[in-house]
Amino acid sequence: MRLFIIAAFAFIAGAAPGVADDGLFDLTWREVARGVFVGGREDPLRYPVVANTTIVIGRKGVLVFDGGGYAAQGEQVLAKIRAETKKPVTHLVISHWHGDHHRGAAPIIDAFPNVEIIAHRFTCAAMADGPERRVEEGEAALDETYEAVGAAVKSGKWFDGSDLSEAEKAYFARMVADYPEYKTQLSRMKVTPPTRAIDESAVIDLGGRKATLLYAGLGNTAGDLALYLPKEKVLATGDIVVAPVPYGFGSYPEDWARVVRQLAGLPAATVIPGHGAIMTDASYLGRLATLLDHVAEQAAAHSAAAPLTIDFSADESAFTQGDPVKARLFDMFFKEPIVSAALNQARGESAKNEPLDGAAADLCTLRPAR
Ligand SMILES: [Zn+2]
Repeated sequence: MRLFIIAAFAFIAGAAPGVADDGLFDLTWREVARGVFVGGREDPLRYPVVANTTIVIGRKGVLVFDGGGYAAQGEQVLAKIRAETKKPVTHLVISHWHGDHHRGAAPIIDAFPNVEIIAHRFTCAAMADGPERRVEEGEAALDETYEAVGAAVKSGKWFDGSDLSEAEKAYFARMVADYPEYKTQLSRMKVTPPTRAIDESAVIDLGGRKATLLYAGLGNTAGDLALYLPKEKVLATGDIVVAPVPYGFGSYPEDWARVVRQLAGLPAATVIPGHGAIMTDASYLGRLATLLDHVAEQAAAHSAAAPLTIDFSADESAFTQGDPVKARLFDMFFKEPIVSAALNQARGESAKNEPLDGAAADLCTLRPAR
C-alpha cells in the first residue's frame, strides 16, 4: 500500500509497447465447486493489484467474499451473479480493511440494499476511520508518484538508485500506461461500512450449504476473515495468503505464521488467495509460514541499539524464482514493510502498525445489525 504512496506519474497515456490489451480490471471466472465461483485477474502482478472475489450460491441466498476494490470489478461480480442465479445476495463479507477488497462493492450493495455486510470489528473500525482515511489522503499524491515512476522508467534507475532491468522497465511503463483507467476507477470508489461486526468465527447458513467465516487472530491485519466451505473443501484466505508475492504492510509477522498454519491444516482441495492464482494444495502456505517465522525470529533476536536488518536469503527465491519483476515487488510489497511491522511487534508496539481512532471502534460496537 505504501508504494502506492511512494511511487506515481502522468503523461504516458498511450499503451506501452509489448503490452497485451486485456483490460486492467477484467476478471476471469472459474467454478471451483458447484455454485462456487472465483473471479480474478489473470495477471496478479499488474498494478494496481486486483483482489480475488468468491461467490457462493446457496438455496436461500448468495454470499460474496470480497466484492471488489473497484466499481468495474463490482459490476462484473454483479453480472456474474445475475448470470448464475435469481437468488439475492444476502451476505457480503469483507476479508480485511484494505480498499482493494471492498471499495468497489457498491454496484452489488445498490442492487441488493438489504445485504448484510459483515467484517471483523477491527476491519469495521479501520474502514470508519484511521488507516482507510489515510489511504484516501495518500491518493491525492498519486499523480506525483506516477510521474516519478515514469521518470524512473526513462532514466532506468529506481528510487533507491538501483538499475531497472528491461523486464522491470516494461512492468513500470505498463503501470504508468494503466494510470488513467486506474484513476477513473479511483474516482468511483465508495466505502460502505459493515452492518455487522464480528469478533470471532461465525457460520452462515445459505440454505443447503454452510459458510464458515474464520477469524484466527493477528495476521496480515488485525481483522482478517477467511471463508471456509467444509463440505466443498474450499478455502478463501483474503490477504493472509497472497501469491506469488505476499504483502507485508501493517502486518503482525509474529502471529501471522500460526494463522497461515491453522488455515493450511484445514482440509481444502481449493485454496483461493487474496490475490493470485487458485491453489490445489497448501504447499505455498507452508513456504509463507516459514518465511514469516524467519522474519519474526530475526526481529525477536534483534538488539534495540542497532537498526533492524532482516536476511531474507533463505526464503526469497521460493517466491521470486529469480524473476526481476517479482524480486522488485517482493522488495516493495513484502521486505520493506515487514521490517518495520516486525520491529514494532518485537518491541510490543504493534498498535503502531495499524493505529485506530477509539471513536471509530465505538462506532462499530454501536452500529445496529440490520
Ligand atoms: Zn489485497
